[in-house]
Amino acid sequence: MTAPANTAPLIHFQQLNKWFGSDFHVLRDIDLDIARGERVVVCGPSGSGKSTLIRCINALESFQQGGLLVAGVRLYPEGQEDERAIAQVRRHVGMVFQQFNLFPHLSVLDNLTLGPIHAAKVPHAQAQAHALAQLERVHIADQAYKFPLQLSGGQQQRVAIARALCLSPEILLFDEPTSALDPEMVHEVLDVMTALARQGITMVCVTHEMDFARSVADRVVFMDQGQIIEQAAPEAFFARPATERAQQFLDKLI
Ligand code: ADP
Ligand code: MG
Repeated sequence: MTAPANTAPLIHFQQLNKWFGSDFHVLRDIDLDIARGERVVVCGPSGSGKSTLIRCINALESFQQGGLLVAGVRLYPEGQEDERAIAQVRRHVGMVFQQFNLFPHLSVLDNLTLGPIHAAKVPHAQAQAHALAQLERVHIADQAYKFPLQLSGGQQQRVAIARALCLSPEILLFDEPTSALDPEMVHEVLDVMTALARQGITMVCVTHEMDFARSVADRVVFMDQGQIIEQAAPEAFFARPATERAQQFLDKLI
């Protein structure tokens, strides 16, 4: 008998529930498995819990019930958290935010090397070489010595992607990475994300860019009011969503 392939999901939500305060139930009975190398797009109306869901994956949000396993590390509900597990998870997960979140007073290169040098104790020269390689990947190595505000929005977001790549994460999270960009800059960011997807990194993207979802995602997860309402391959989801709520959401996007 041959050994079974490692089919354990890289991200495993098990009946996860989260409240903000005592009575706002923001995530309800979330069951979600994401395999290594899978590319998942999360969509749904504003306020449905998409950001909160993906922020749980790198422990930027705690939860009160259920379980979450990320890259083999178990995260526990509030009150039972384990700081070492949280630090371990964050080494496996990179995140890109809508508002870039770059340090304005640091050069592009210093933005990229800060985490590796201070958090991961990578030697300076090695961190710089790796950072420059990540800037190459997002086609922006020529801007390494500029400051973020000297760059366009699209360039800043590509720097943020390169920064997320600097810790060689197994999982990349994107939270509406193109929503703050001028329309003419959306494509340069989506092109970089598409290239990364083709390189096999596990990606979970909150986005309303449905063409991106169609061409890149293995699966679309649709949320509403804190629940996963349906999940399907993009072809099936866009051709014929299973629920009225998803259909209404898609109708509004057009
Ligand atoms: P989405 O990303 O789908 O727009 P979010 O996950 O950001 O939704 O938010 C889901 C709901 O939780 C929204 O109603 C939002 O106002 C609320 N919310 C988000 N963050 C907090 C917070 N820190 N405290 C209280 N409520 C919050
Ligand atoms: Mg959001």
